[in-house]
Amino acid sequence: MTEIYDLIVVGTGSVGSSAGYYASMKGLKVLEVDESQPPHDQGSYHGDTRIIRHAYGENPMYVPLALRAQELWQSLEKQAQVKIFHETGVLNIGAEKSQFLSNIVISAEQYHLPIKIYDAKSANERWQQLNLPIGFEATLESRGGYLKSEDAVSAYVNQAKKAGAHQKFNTRVLAISDEHGLVHVQTNDGVFLGKHVVVTAGTWVKDLIPNLPIQPVRKVVSWFNSDQSLSERANFPAFTAETTDGNQYYGFPANDGMIKIGRHNGGQIISNREQRVQFGENSEDYDEITYFKQHVLRGVNQLHHGVSCTYDVSPDGHFIIDYVPGHKNIQVVTGLSGHGFKFASVLGEILIDRVLNIEPKYNLTAFSLSRFLK
Ligand SMILES: Cc1cc2nc3c(=O)[nH]c(=O)nc-3n(C[C@H](O)[C@H](O)[C@H](O)COP(=O)(O)OP(=O)(O)OC[C@H]3O[C@@H](n4cnc5c(N)ncnc54)[C@H](O)[C@@H]3O)c2cc1C
Repeated sequence: MTEIYDLIVVGTGSVGSSAGYYASMKGLKVLEVDESQPPHDQGSYHGDTRIIRHAYGENPMYVPLALRAQELWQSLEKQAQVKIFHETGVLNIGAEKSQFLSNIVISAEQYHLPIKIYDAKSANERWQQLNLPIGFEATLESRGGYLKSEDAVSAYVNQAKKAGAHQKFNTRVLAISDEHGLVHVQTNDGVFLGKHVVVTAGTWVKDLIPNLPIQPVRKVVSWFNSDQSLSERANFPAFTAETTDGNQYYGFPANDGMIKIGRHNGGQIISNREQRVQFGENSEDYDEITYFKQHVLRGVNQLHHGVSCTYDVSPDGHFIIDYVPGHKNIQVVTGLSGHGFKFASVLGEILIDRVLNIEPKYNLTAFSLSRFLK
């Protein structure tokens, strides 16, 4: 007789591995599917690290999610006995009263989050590697930091397996259909049946749900040899920066003599996996960080290496957390728009609470798909 799962996870990456874990821990019969063997470099979570911040520049509505995500990452660390979170602090740099920094200040006031505000002069004195122009400022959130993203996905996958999850990796999902309340997940290695499905397929979600308003964008991130003063050991924080050239950068304190820096805006619009070419195959890859190195942060030396990755960008840059229209047994999380990893833990929990009909803890109206369907 064909096995029927309580839940099938389509895409066991950042959010999917978390959902699979929380479902397994609740005793559900779970099948996790992924087209590669997690952790891998074909999704959006490779490259070792992702920033986590709580006072949220994109919009204060994310703060309750960020705080719960933080708790869940720390309990995963305990459960898996793996260090995932590094509390390095996060420095956010921008023009005074910019929207991003204003949202951080509002978040901090509303949710009593400890932040410290520096004008350009005091920031440049405090971090002598910085070169902020007059009219700029910085906020330091000392409780933020970074997550070891690949280790986190590994931990979720391993712990889910321990809790009884079935795992079918190196298997691509080709189609999903709801047939009289039972979801059929068709793969290149058979059809699987689930009472519920969560579609957490990241950048390539439109292969499975074609009408979603999601744009895949190729991104790169680079590692540079760097001065010791920029290292985690020297207490240099993770950072985001909106700079006078109109770009948005982010980076991590250096480890092993290398600092990792990326540019959040820009990138190349792509439409299939093959177009996500390796770092260096696009001539712009080498220049992404040049302005930042030359004008904002001293001590960043020659390029060591880079990787390419992808964002799944929604039209307003905010997440989509919803049911597939007309199907209460199929949920989708997408549109994480390059800032979703930190929330992967809580997003998995939210998906499973919905599967279990647990009273919602957050108002998710702002993340509904219907905002784009009006
Ligand atoms: C360079 C870069 C830097 C970033 N920095 C940050 C940061 O500092 N902080 C932060 O919070 N976020 C950051 N992000 C964003 C964050 O990493 C992503 O939002 C998040 O990882 C997306 O999670 P996901 O679960 O949606 O997708 P993924 O983690 O990519 O998971 C999707 C999974 O689905 C699988 N899959 C896809 N299609 C199929 C199919 N048809 N069949 C089977 N499996 C399938 C894939 O193999 C993959 O494992 C960054 C992203 C990038 C690219």
